[in-house]
Amino acid sequence: MEVELITIGDEIITGHTIDTNAAYMATRLVDNGFVVRYRTSVGDNAEDMEEAFRQALKRVDIVLTTGGLGPTDDDITKRSIVKVFKRNLIFHEDVLEDIRARYARRGIEMPAINQNQALLPQGATFFPNANGSAVGICIAEQGRIFISLPGVPFEMRQILDDHVIPYLRGVGDRHALKVIKVRTTGIIESKIAEIIVGELKLEPGVRLAYLPGYRGVDLRVIASGETQDEADEKARGLVRFLEEKVGDYVYGYDEDTLDEVVGQLLKDNDRTLSVAESCTAGLLGAAITSVHGASVYFKGGVLAYANDVKIRQLGVPADIIEQHGAVSEECAIAMAAGCRERFETDYALSITGIAGPDGGTDEKPVGTVWIGLATAREQRARCLHLGGLRDAIRKRSVFGALEMLRREILDIS
Ligand code: ATP
Ligand code: MG
Repeated sequence: MEVELITIGDEIITGHTIDTNAAYMATRLVDNGFVVRYRTSVGDNAEDMEEAFRQALKRVDIVLTTGGLGPTDDDITKRSIVKVFKRNLIFHEDVLEDIRARYARRGIEMPAINQNQALLPQGATFFPNANGSAVGICIAEQGRIFISLPGVPFEMRQILDDHVIPYLRGVGDRHALKVIKVRTTGIIESKIAEIIVGELKLEPGVRLAYLPGYRGVDLRVIASGETQDEADEKARGLVRFLEEKVGDYVYGYDEDTLDEVVGQLLKDNDRTLSVAESCTAGLLGAAITSVHGASVYFKGGVLAYANDVKIRQLGVPADIIEQHGAVSEECAIAMAAGCRERFETDYALSITGIAGPDGGTDEKPVGTVWIGLATAREQRARCLHLGGLRDAIRKRSVFGALEMLRREILDIS
């Protein structure tokens, strides 16, 4: 079934609000087997809205809108809906009671204008809003489904996930679909393509998409079939093929994150970790501890931003910094080794680099980052040459460090 998404609001048109609603709805729908044909945006203008609604109802099966369901004068979506569907707005006592109760729970008397929100199109059905007062509106007519949701992202998402998707899944014939995201890092997309192209044979109904980001390349496998088992099997077949070809670079699947994957590996192997961070100054520690339960394997670290902190707190020999500089293989190794010793952990990671925008030289341009790793057996470092601005360089450094540890634990060269 084909869908058009319409996001409503002047601030969307002008770019003051980034249209994250459309992106979220589109992904959720595609993951559930729907085809998103069009994405449209209109301002808070009744005529434009009506025009957009009419056009969408002509060309797709399902129209999904967000925005303009609030109680204020600029929220006119409902008026445009009843105009297009030639219906009246009917007052719903039960909806008003819900809104009143919601305000009462917060200890606020309901402002009178909220009564507007109990005026809803005749013959529509409603999806309750757990986080706000605007309910989702659904009109099914002549084989078309029109659904209108509030614009506030966390309200929209709750209604979409809890009510709209289950409702739409129950409507009409749909192919079964399986989506698996294979997450890789440390290899660029063209290299992956080069490795797999010779032997890649896509079965009918199977697609592969490359989604590069600063963390690495996600490979999105989408398979459709007559039954769920068939779709699952087709998708798994392609995933197995990808694992055979580029498995060393695969750190996880779907929503797995490298912080979690590395955390799990440390936990499973009963190992501990500490960190010494220069240019990332805490980002690595923050990433590791963003995972619930990290205290089992993470002990702590040093923000060794200044050279004298590297020397005094981590025991980096002053002449290493003098001879090779703070951004060097030798310094990264000494930082990791000193950290491991002081924190008494199985592993220690260090990061020292030039995040920019200043400080680069011909020899060590901005983006030069050394990652050090100390283990019970050895100490080593590798150099990353990272692109992007300061923020991206710092994030990529963290990712590179975690990936170095993942490969160490799994013994991948
Ligand atoms: P309310 O009851 O809060 O008025 P509403 O349904 O009328 O909700 P809008 O007034 O259109 O929704 O938008 C409310 C807020 O939600 C906006 O200020 C904006 O920050 C956010 N928002 C609206 N549409 C989008 C969108 N497409 N993507 C991301 N954020 C959005
Ligand atoms: Mg509003």
